Amino acid sequence: MKGSMMADQTTVLVAEDDAASRRIIVRLLERSGYNVLAACDGAEAAQMMSPQVGVAVLDWMMPGLDGLALCRLTKSSPETADTYVLMVTAKTEKSDMVAALDAGADDYMTKPVDHDELLARVRAAERTAERERSLRSAYHEVRIEAERDALTGLHNRGYFDRVLAEEIERSRATGDALCLLMFDLDHFKLVNDVHGHHVGDLVLKEVAAVLSEQVREGADTVARYGGEELAIIAPGTSPLCGMQLAERIRKKIALLRIPAEGQLVSVTISVGLGAYNDHIGGSPDPVTALIEEADMRLFQAKHAGRNRVAA
Ligand code: GH3
Ligand code: MG
Ligand code: MG
Ligand code: MG
Repeated sequence: MKGSMMADQTTVLVAEDDAASRRIIVRLLERSGYNVLAACDGAEAAQMMSPQVGVAVLDWMMPGLDGLALCRLTKSSPETADTYVLMVTAKTEKSDMVAALDAGADDYMTKPVDHDELLARVRAAERTAERERSLRSAYHEVRIEAERDALTGLHNRGYFDRVLAEEIERSRATGDALCLLMFDLDHFKLVNDVHGHHVGDLVLKEVAAVLSEQVREGADTVARYGGEELAIIAPGTSPLCGMQLAERIRKKIALLRIPAEGQLVSVTISVGLGAYNDHIGGSPDPVTALIEEADMRLFQAKHAGRNRVAA
C-alpha cells in the first residue's frame, strides 16, 4: 500500500557534508512532498545512488569523494546516467560552473541556497525527466511498429534478418540446435484471382495467426518473409522437432475454413526446413546459407506436389 502511494513521488538524493544545511534542505524537500534520501558525504551518496533517484542535489565541496567526482560517477554508469544532477556550491567563478556542467551536471546553483530557487530547479528537473520518459516510450512504440508487418501483425523482414543473424551466432558459439522453417502458400495467386485480393489478405492473416499460435511464445520468432512467404526461427529445436512443428502447422492450415463473403475458403501450405549445422556455420555467409537451405527444401516440397514438408 505504502509502495503504491509513493510510486509517483520523485526521489531526491541530497549529498551535503554540513549537517545544518543538510537538515534544512531535507526538511524543505520533504515538506514539498518529495521522497528524500540524505547522505553526509560523497561516498555515502555513491552508495545510495540508484535508478530510483530522480534528482541528485550534490554539494561540490565534500571530504573524500566530492560533488564533481560523484557527478561524473553517476553519469558514467548506465544505471544512473538519467539521474538529474543539480550541483550546489559556494564557488561562484564562471570556470567552476563550466567544470560542473562539463562533468555532466544538468544544472547548477550557488550557496547560500535560496529555498524557492531550489524547489523551482527540482520542479524543472521533474519536467525534464517526464519529457524524457514520454519520448522514450514513444520511441519504444515506434520501434515495435517498425519491426511489425502491418497486414499480419507478424515481425517483418528487417526483424527476421536481425534475429536470424543473432541466433546463428548463438548456435555457432554454443552448438545449440536451430531450425529455420520457410512457408509458402500453395497456389495463392488463384485465391486472389477467384475470390479477390481482399479475401487473399484475410487468408494470409488467418494463416499467420495459426503460425503464431503454434510456436513457443518468447522463444520462437514468426515473421513475414515477403509476399505470401512466412518464416519461423526456432532456436534450440532439433530437426526432428522442427519437422513435427512444421507438420502440425501444415495440418492445421489444411483444415482451416476461412469465411469470406459468404464462402468458405481453404488453402494449403508448403514448408521447407533448414537445420543449422557446422557446414552452414563455417560458410562465409551463414545467414544466407541457412535461408538457401530452407528455400531449397521448400522448392522440393512444391515440386513433390505441395501441401507438404520437406527437410
Ligand atoms: P505456388 O504454389 O507455386 O507458390 O503458387 P502461388 O500462386 O502461391 O505463387 P506465385 O508466386 O505465382 O504467386 C504468389 C501470389 O501471392 C501472387 C501475389 O499477388 C500474392 N500475394 C503476395 N502478397 C500478397 C498480399 O499481401 N495479399 C494478397 N492478397 N496476395 C498477396
Ligand atoms: Mg560542503
Ligand atoms: Mg511465393
Ligand atoms: Mg505461393
